[in-house]
Amino acid sequence: MMKKALSIILLLALLVVFFACSPAERTAYGFSMGSDYKVSYDFNGDLDKEIADLFASVESSYSVRVDSSVLSRLNAAKAGEMITLTTEENEVLYQAFALASATRSAFDPAILPLVKLWGFDPPYEMNGEVPPADSAILKATILSGMDQFTLYHDLSIITKRSDDAALDLGAAIKGYAVGRALDLLREKGATKGLVWLGGTVGALGDSYPIGVTAPRESNQDYAFRFTLSDGEICATSGDYERYYEYEGKRYHHILDVNTGYPASSDVISATIVAKDGLIADAFATAVVVLGVEKGVALLEEYGIKGALVTKEKKVVTVGLTVTIKDTTYEIV
Ligand code: AMP
Ligand code: MG
Repeated sequence: MMKKALSIILLLALLVVFFACSPAERTAYGFSMGSDYKVSYDFNGDLDKEIADLFASVESSYSVRVDSSVLSRLNAAKAGEMITLTTEENEVLYQAFALASATRSAFDPAILPLVKLWGFDPPYEMNGEVPPADSAILKATILSGMDQFTLYHDLSIITKRSDDAALDLGAAIKGYAVGRALDLLREKGATKGLVWLGGTVGALGDSYPIGVTAPRESNQDYAFRFTLSDGEICATSGDYERYYEYEGKRYHHILDVNTGYPASSDVISATIVAKDGLIADAFATAVVVLGVEKGVALLEEYGIKGALVTKEKKVVTVGLTVTIKDTTYEIV
Protein backbone atom coordinates (compact mmCIF):
# COMPACT_ATOMS: atom_id res chain seq x y z
CA MET A 1 0.00 0.00 0.00
CA MET A 2 2.64 2.52 1.03
CA LYS A 3 4.92 1.52 -1.85
CA LYS A 4 2.17 2.18 -4.34
CA ALA A 5 1.35 5.35 -2.55
CA LEU A 6 4.87 6.68 -2.88
CA SER A 7 4.69 6.67 -6.63
CA ILE A 8 1.89 9.18 -6.88
CA ILE A 9 2.27 12.71 -8.10
CA LEU A 10 0.46 15.56 -6.50
CA LEU A 11 -0.70 18.41 -8.61
CA LEU A 12 -1.41 21.88 -7.37
CA ALA A 13 -4.75 23.31 -8.47
CA LEU A 14 -5.27 26.78 -7.19
CA LEU A 15 -2.27 25.73 -5.36
CA VAL A 16 -2.24 21.99 -4.90
CA VAL A 17 -4.67 19.12 -5.46
CA PHE A 18 -4.31 15.43 -4.97
CA PHE A 19 -3.68 13.77 -8.25
CA ALA A 20 -4.04 10.13 -7.39
CA CYS A 21 -4.74 7.81 -4.51
CA SER A 22 -3.99 8.44 -0.87
CA PRO A 23 -0.51 7.82 0.43
CA ALA A 24 -1.56 6.16 3.65
CA GLU A 25 -4.05 3.87 5.27
CA ARG A 26 -6.55 6.50 6.42
CA THR A 27 -7.65 9.85 5.07
CA ALA A 28 -9.42 12.65 6.93
CA TYR A 29 -11.30 15.21 4.83
CA GLY A 30 -12.78 18.48 5.97
CA PHE A 31 -12.96 22.23 5.61
CA SER A 32 -11.16 24.74 7.78
CA MET A 33 -9.70 28.25 7.51
CA GLY A 34 -11.60 28.82 4.28
CA SER A 35 -10.09 25.76 2.55
CA ASP A 36 -10.62 22.08 2.08
CA TYR A 37 -8.18 19.82 3.83
CA LYS A 38 -7.09 16.26 3.26
CA VAL A 39 -4.86 14.43 5.69
CA SER A 40 -3.67 10.94 4.84
CA TYR A 41 -1.85 9.00 7.50
CA ASP A 42 -0.58 5.57 8.32
CA PHE A 43 -1.79 4.72 11.81
CA ASN A 44 -3.47 1.87 13.55
CA GLY A 45 -6.52 3.86 14.61
CA ASP A 46 -8.63 6.86 13.78
CA LEU A 47 -7.21 10.38 14.20
CA ASP A 48 -9.83 12.10 12.05
CA LYS A 49 -11.50 13.82 15.01
CA GLU A 50 -8.20 14.96 16.52
CA ILE A 51 -7.24 16.45 13.15
CA ALA A 52 -10.60 18.24 12.77
CA ASP A 53 -10.35 19.55 16.35
CA LEU A 54 -6.82 20.78 15.81
CA PHE A 55 -7.69 22.76 12.67
CA ALA A 56 -10.83 24.14 14.36
CA SER A 57 -8.78 25.28 17.33
CA VAL A 58 -6.18 27.02 15.14
CA GLU A 59 -8.99 28.75 13.26
CA SER A 60 -10.80 29.82 16.41
CA SER A 61 -7.61 31.28 17.84
CA TYR A 62 -6.20 33.11 14.83
CA SER A 63 -8.92 33.79 12.27
CA VAL A 64 -10.12 37.36 11.88
CA ARG A 65 -13.44 35.81 10.84
CA VAL A 66 -14.05 34.32 14.30
CA ASP A 67 -15.27 37.01 16.72
CA SER A 68 -13.80 35.34 19.80
CA SER A 69 -10.32 34.79 18.31
CA VAL A 70 -7.43 36.60 19.90
CA LEU A 71 -6.95 38.52 16.65
CA SER A 72 -10.57 39.70 16.62
CA ARG A 73 -10.33 40.76 20.27
CA LEU A 74 -7.12 42.60 19.59
CA ASN A 75 -8.48 44.19 16.44
CA ALA A 76 -11.54 45.46 18.34
CA ALA A 77 -9.40 46.80 21.21
CA LYS A 78 -8.65 50.47 21.79
CA ALA A 79 -5.19 51.99 21.46
CA GLY A 80 -3.13 51.19 24.55
CA GLU A 81 -5.50 48.49 25.82
CA MET A 82 -3.59 45.47 27.11
CA ILE A 83 -4.59 42.12 25.62
CA THR A 84 -3.33 39.09 27.51
CA LEU A 85 -2.15 36.17 25.39
CA THR A 86 -2.01 32.45 26.05
CA THR A 87 1.45 30.89 25.87
CA GLU A 88 0.73 29.60 22.39
CA GLU A 89 -0.71 32.89 21.10
CA ASN A 90 2.30 34.69 22.54
CA GLU A 91 4.67 32.39 20.64
CA VAL A 92 2.73 32.57 17.36
CA LEU A 93 2.60 36.37 17.45
CA TYR A 94 6.24 36.55 18.50
CA GLN A 95 7.22 34.43 15.53
CA ALA A 96 4.94 36.38 13.17
CA PHE A 97 6.52 39.70 14.21
CA ALA A 98 9.99 38.15 13.92
CA LEU A 99 9.10 37.11 10.36
CA ALA A 100 7.90 40.63 9.62
CA SER A 101 11.30 41.92 10.78
CA ALA A 102 13.18 39.26 8.83
CA THR A 103 11.29 40.07 5.62
CA ARG A 104 11.45 43.84 6.22
CA SER A 105 7.65 43.79 6.34
CA ALA A 106 7.22 42.09 2.96
CA PHE A 107 5.22 39.73 5.16
CA ASP A 108 3.56 41.84 7.85
CA PRO A 109 0.67 40.56 9.97
CA ALA A 110 -0.39 44.12 10.85
CA ILE A 111 -1.83 44.57 7.36
CA LEU A 112 -5.56 44.23 8.02
CA PRO A 113 -6.46 47.94 7.43
CA LEU A 114 -5.11 47.53 3.87
CA VAL A 115 -6.63 44.06 3.41
CA LYS A 116 -10.04 45.47 4.40
CA LEU A 117 -9.70 48.47 2.13
CA TRP A 118 -8.71 46.50 -0.96
CA GLY A 119 -11.38 43.92 -0.15
CA PHE A 120 -9.99 40.92 -2.01
CA ASP A 121 -10.64 38.66 0.97
CA PRO A 122 -14.10 37.83 2.23
CA PRO A 123 -15.91 39.05 4.27
CA TYR A 124 -14.43 42.37 3.12
CA GLU A 125 -15.70 43.74 -0.15
CA MET A 126 -14.06 45.26 -3.18
CA ASN A 127 -14.95 48.65 -4.50
CA GLY A 128 -16.22 47.00 -7.70
CA GLU A 129 -13.12 46.27 -9.72
CA VAL A 130 -11.69 49.74 -9.21
CA PRO A 131 -8.76 50.47 -6.88
CA PRO A 132 -9.56 52.52 -3.76
CA ALA A 133 -8.84 56.27 -3.72
CA ASP A 134 -5.22 57.26 -3.08
CA SER A 135 -6.22 59.13 0.08
CA ALA A 136 -7.89 56.00 1.51
CA ILE A 137 -4.82 53.91 0.61
CA LEU A 138 -2.55 56.39 2.34
CA LYS A 139 -4.70 56.36 5.50
CA ALA A 140 -4.79 52.53 5.62
CA THR A 141 -1.04 52.37 4.95
CA ILE A 142 -0.35 54.64 7.92
CA LEU A 143 -2.53 52.39 10.13
CA SER A 144 -0.82 49.22 8.84
CA GLY A 145 2.55 47.75 9.72
CA MET A 146 4.00 46.04 12.77
CA ASP A 147 5.14 49.37 14.27
CA GLN A 148 1.51 49.79 15.28
CA PHE A 149 1.92 46.97 17.81
CA THR A 150 4.08 46.24 20.83
CA LEU A 151 4.37 42.65 21.96
CA TYR A 152 5.59 42.35 25.55
CA HIS A 153 6.75 38.80 25.04
CA ASP A 154 7.95 38.24 28.61
CA LEU A 155 4.60 39.44 29.95
CA SER A 156 2.42 37.75 27.28
CA ILE A 157 0.72 41.07 26.59
CA ILE A 158 0.19 42.97 23.35
CA THR A 159 -0.95 46.54 22.80
CA LYS A 160 -1.51 48.75 19.77
CA ARG A 161 -0.99 52.40 19.01
CA SER A 162 -4.14 53.22 17.02
CA ASP A 163 -7.71 52.05 17.53
CA ASP A 164 -7.89 50.99 13.89
CA ALA A 165 -4.61 49.06 13.70
CA ALA A 166 -5.39 45.37 13.12
CA LEU A 167 -3.71 42.01 12.56
CA ASP A 168 -4.37 39.37 9.90
CA LEU A 169 -2.52 36.06 9.97
CA GLY A 170 -4.14 34.80 6.75
CA ALA A 171 -0.75 34.71 5.02
CA ALA A 172 0.79 32.33 7.54
CA ILE A 173 -1.93 30.44 9.36
CA LYS A 174 -2.31 27.54 6.96
CA GLY A 175 1.39 26.83 7.16
CA TYR A 176 1.21 26.99 10.94
CA ALA A 177 -1.79 24.64 10.97
CA VAL A 178 -0.08 22.13 8.66
CA GLY A 179 2.96 22.14 10.96
CA ARG A 180 0.72 21.51 13.98
CA ALA A 181 -0.99 18.65 12.11
CA LEU A 182 2.39 17.02 11.38
CA ASP A 183 3.24 17.37 15.09
CA LEU A 184 -0.07 15.74 16.01
CA LEU A 185 0.48 12.79 13.67
CA ARG A 186 4.01 12.37 15.02
CA GLU A 187 2.93 12.54 18.68
CA LYS A 188 0.19 9.98 18.14
CA GLY A 189 2.65 7.61 16.54
CA ALA A 190 1.64 7.80 12.88
CA THR A 191 4.57 6.60 10.79
CA LYS A 192 3.71 8.26 7.52
CA GLY A 193 1.45 11.07 6.52
CA LEU A 194 0.65 13.80 4.07
CA VAL A 195 -1.22 16.91 5.21
CA TRP A 196 -2.87 19.14 2.60
CA LEU A 197 -4.69 22.31 3.59
CA GLY A 198 -5.74 24.61 0.78
CA GLY A 199 -2.51 24.11 -1.15
CA THR A 200 -0.10 24.06 1.79
CA VAL A 201 1.40 20.60 2.22
CA GLY A 202 3.37 18.81 4.92
CA ALA A 203 5.15 15.45 4.70
CA LEU A 204 5.72 12.93 7.48
CA GLY A 205 7.91 9.84 7.44
CA ASP A 206 8.54 9.77 3.72
CA SER A 207 9.14 11.83 0.56
CA TYR A 208 6.34 12.82 -1.78
CA PRO A 209 6.35 14.33 -5.28
CA ILE A 210 4.54 17.68 -5.44
CA GLY A 211 3.46 19.56 -8.54
CA VAL A 212 3.07 23.34 -8.50
CA THR A 213 0.31 24.85 -10.61
CA ALA A 214 1.27 26.89 -13.61
CA PRO A 215 0.50 30.42 -12.39
CA ARG A 216 -1.85 32.65 -14.39
CA GLU A 217 -2.80 29.73 -16.68
CA SER A 218 -6.43 28.79 -17.14
CA ASN A 219 -5.64 25.07 -17.30
CA GLN A 220 -4.90 23.18 -14.12
CA ASP A 221 -1.53 21.96 -15.34
CA TYR A 222 1.60 22.10 -13.26
CA ALA A 223 4.63 24.23 -14.04
CA PHE A 224 7.22 22.18 -12.15
CA ARG A 225 7.49 19.47 -9.56
CA PHE A 226 9.82 18.65 -6.75
CA THR A 227 10.15 16.24 -3.84
CA LEU A 228 8.88 17.16 -0.40
CA SER A 229 10.85 15.26 2.25
CA ASP A 230 9.96 14.02 5.72
CA GLY A 231 9.24 16.90 8.09
CA GLU A 232 9.07 19.53 5.34
CA ILE A 233 6.19 21.88 4.65
CA CYS A 234 5.66 23.73 1.39
CA ALA A 235 3.51 26.78 0.79
CA THR A 236 2.79 28.58 -2.48
CA SER A 237 1.65 32.17 -2.94
CA GLY A 238 0.78 33.82 -6.21
CA ASP A 239 -0.76 36.90 -7.73
CA TYR A 240 -3.29 34.81 -9.68
CA GLU A 241 -5.67 33.70 -6.94
CA ARG A 242 -7.76 36.81 -6.38
CA TYR A 243 -7.19 39.70 -8.75
CA TYR A 244 -8.70 42.08 -11.28
CA GLU A 245 -7.35 44.27 -14.03
CA TYR A 246 -8.02 47.97 -14.15
CA GLU A 247 -6.71 50.26 -16.90
CA GLY A 248 -4.29 47.56 -18.00
CA LYS A 249 -2.80 46.99 -14.55
CA ARG A 250 -3.18 43.91 -12.39
CA TYR A 251 -4.43 44.31 -8.82
CA HIS A 252 -4.30 41.25 -6.57
CA HIS A 253 -4.60 40.10 -2.97
CA ILE A 254 -0.94 40.14 -1.94
CA LEU A 255 -0.31 43.63 -0.69
CA ASP A 256 2.83 45.58 0.05
CA VAL A 257 2.48 47.23 3.44
CA ASN A 258 5.27 49.64 2.50
CA THR A 259 3.37 51.09 -0.47
CA GLY A 260 -0.27 50.28 0.31
CA TYR A 261 -0.72 48.72 -3.13
CA PRO A 262 -0.73 45.12 -4.37
CA ALA A 263 2.79 43.80 -4.85
CA SER A 264 4.17 44.60 -8.28
CA SER A 265 7.27 42.45 -8.41
CA ASP A 266 8.59 40.16 -11.14
CA VAL A 267 7.55 37.05 -9.14
CA ILE A 268 4.08 35.73 -9.94
CA SER A 269 4.31 32.61 -7.79
CA ALA A 270 6.60 31.57 -4.94
CA THR A 271 6.85 28.08 -3.49
CA ILE A 272 8.78 27.84 -0.24
CA VAL A 273 9.88 24.66 1.54
CA ALA A 274 10.82 24.78 5.22
CA LYS A 275 10.67 22.63 8.35
CA ASP A 276 8.48 25.27 9.98
CA GLY A 277 5.06 25.88 8.40
CA LEU A 278 4.67 29.45 9.62
CA ILE A 279 8.01 30.31 8.03
CA ALA A 280 7.18 28.55 4.72
CA ASP A 281 3.81 30.31 4.41
CA ALA A 282 5.01 33.76 5.52
CA PHE A 283 8.09 33.57 3.26
CA ALA A 284 5.97 32.52 0.25
CA THR A 285 3.87 35.67 0.65
CA ALA A 286 6.96 37.80 1.32
CA VAL A 287 8.83 36.60 -1.76
CA VAL A 288 5.92 37.56 -4.06
CA VAL A 289 6.21 41.07 -2.58
CA LEU A 290 10.02 41.18 -2.71
CA GLY A 291 10.58 39.89 -6.26
CA VAL A 292 13.40 37.70 -7.54
CA GLU A 293 16.47 39.61 -6.45
CA LYS A 294 15.45 40.45 -2.89
CA GLY A 295 13.46 37.21 -2.53
CA VAL A 296 16.46 35.04 -3.45
CA ALA A 297 18.65 37.08 -1.09
CA LEU A 298 16.13 36.53 1.73
CA LEU A 299 16.00 32.76 1.15
CA GLU A 300 19.78 32.53 0.99
CA GLU A 301 20.15 34.64 4.13
CA TYR A 302 17.94 32.26 6.13
CA GLY A 303 18.91 29.01 4.36
CA ILE A 304 15.33 28.37 3.20
CA LYS A 305 14.52 26.48 -0.02
CA GLY A 306 12.22 27.76 -2.71
CA ALA A 307 11.28 28.03 -6.37
CA LEU A 308 9.96 31.28 -7.83
CA VAL A 309 8.11 31.66 -11.13
CA THR A 310 8.64 34.95 -12.94
CA LYS A 311 6.40 36.79 -15.38
CA GLU A 312 8.72 35.54 -18.15
CA LYS A 313 8.01 31.92 -17.12
CA LYS A 314 11.45 31.38 -15.68
CA VAL A 315 11.72 29.15 -12.61
CA VAL A 316 14.35 30.48 -10.20
CA THR A 317 15.40 27.92 -7.60
CA VAL A 318 17.14 28.30 -4.25
CA GLY A 319 18.33 24.97 -2.80
CA LEU A 320 15.46 23.06 -4.40
CA THR A 321 15.74 20.58 -7.26
CA VAL A 322 12.77 20.95 -9.60
CA THR A 323 11.65 19.31 -12.82
CA ILE A 324 9.75 21.47 -15.27
CA LYS A 325 6.87 19.94 -17.17
CA ASP A 326 7.79 21.12 -20.64
CA THR A 327 9.55 23.92 -22.47
CA THR A 328 6.90 26.47 -21.50
CA TYR A 329 9.06 27.08 -18.44
CA GLU A 330 12.79 27.52 -18.15
CA ILE A 331 14.88 26.81 -15.07
CA VAL A 332 17.43 29.53 -14.40
P1 AMP B 1 -1.01 33.97 1.07
O1 AMP B 1 -2.00 33.35 0.15
O2 AMP B 1 -0.42 33.04 2.08
O3 AMP B 1 0.05 34.72 0.33
O4 AMP B 1 -1.79 35.02 1.96
C1 AMP B 1 -2.45 36.09 1.38
C2 AMP B 1 -3.39 36.70 2.40
O5 AMP B 1 -2.66 37.29 3.47
C3 AMP B 1 -4.20 37.83 1.80
O6 AMP B 1 -5.42 37.32 1.33
C4 AMP B 1 -4.34 38.80 2.97
O7 AMP B 1 -5.36 38.38 3.85
C5 AMP B 1 -3.02 38.65 3.68
N1 AMP B 1 -1.92 39.45 3.14
C6 AMP B 1 -1.82 40.08 1.93
N2 AMP B 1 -0.62 40.64 1.77
C7 AMP B 1 0.09 40.38 2.90
C8 AMP B 1 1.40 40.70 3.34
N3 AMP B 1 2.24 41.39 2.58
N4 AMP B 1 1.78 40.27 4.58
C9 AMP B 1 0.93 39.57 5.36
N5 AMP B 1 -0.32 39.23 5.00
C10 AMP B 1 -0.74 39.62 3.79
MG1 MG C 1 1.55 32.80 2.78
